[in-house]
Order: sequence, then C-alpha cells, then structure tokens
Amino acid sequence: MGRPSVNVDITELRSIIGKLESNGPLASQQELWERVAESFKNDKITAAVIRLRCEANNISIITPAAKRGRKVGVINQLGIRKGRGAKYESNIGKKHIAALKVELGPKYYPLIEKIQAGSIKAAIKGACLFCTGCQPLEIKECEILSCPLYLIRPYQKKAKV
Ligand code: SF4
Repeated sequence: MGRPSVNVDITELRSIIGKLESNGPLASQQELWERVAESFKNDKITAAVIRLRCEANNISIITPAAKRGRKVGVINQLGIRKGRGAKYESNIGKKHIAALKVELGPKYYPLIEKIQAGSIKAAIKGACLFCTGCQPLEIKECEILSCPLYLIRPYQKKAKV
C-alpha cells in the first residue's frame, strides 16, 4: 500500500502562492514549490508535496516551468500535442499523474515521467508496483497466473535456456 498522504491546507496553499506571485512570476516552479514549502513550517510538507497538491487541486500559477526536461508527446505544426503522452496533458491526466506520484512515491518519479511520456512498458511496471505496494520482490515472486500482466511483469527471474 502507499504511504499516508500529507495533509496540506489548500486554502492556505492558494493564499501563500498568491502572495509569492503577487509581484509577478518567480524564476522557476521549483523555486516556487520550495518557497511555499518553507512557509508551511512542517517538515513533511516538501516542495514535491506542494507541487502534487497544486496539480491535484488545479491551482493555477503564473510561474513558468523550467525549460529543461523532456517534453511530453510531440507538438505538430498547429501546436497540438500528439501521441500517447498527450493524454496526460488533460485535467484528468494531470490528476492521474499526481495520484500516481502520491501512491508510488519520489523514488519512482523517473518511472512516472516515462509513463507520462506514453511508455507502455513503464505503465506495466507502474501497475505491478501499485499492485504490490512497491515491493519488487513480490512482483518477481508473483503467482497470480490469472493477472493479464503476469507474463510481461517486470523483475522476472531470468529464464534458463
Ligand atoms: S503480474 Fe502480479 S504483481 Fe503484476 S499486477 Fe499482476 S498480480 Fe500484480
């Protein structure tokens, strides 16, 4: 099972972001998340938690994302994103990714980025981690033959030839 989620006062969160952005956008969203987290004075409320809560609650911010990092999907000449990754740009897609981050935890953020970019292999691995509460050994030893992912699950023992 996933770890218990950290309680964040969403009204306070909106208010802090409003104050921080009152003079315009900050240099990067990472700086914004970190400064908001500092304002809460609760060790468990990290920049990552702040980011997740903003995504999950559709809190609009004016600070732009940093330019580095992989783009999701491909933008065509009309500026419309194509490919499986495009699904994750919808509101429900963003909520799904935020929920997945809470469930799997920061260790698996790189995997979640691959899922967000449309990787089916990463989604299968994510499904097995979700199923076992992030226990790779349990996935390796999985005996649920009726599961559709059984034969393609990650962490399988290497077959002897
Ligand atoms: S293959 Fe096993 S670990 Fe993976 S989702 Fe199915 S039952 Fe869960």
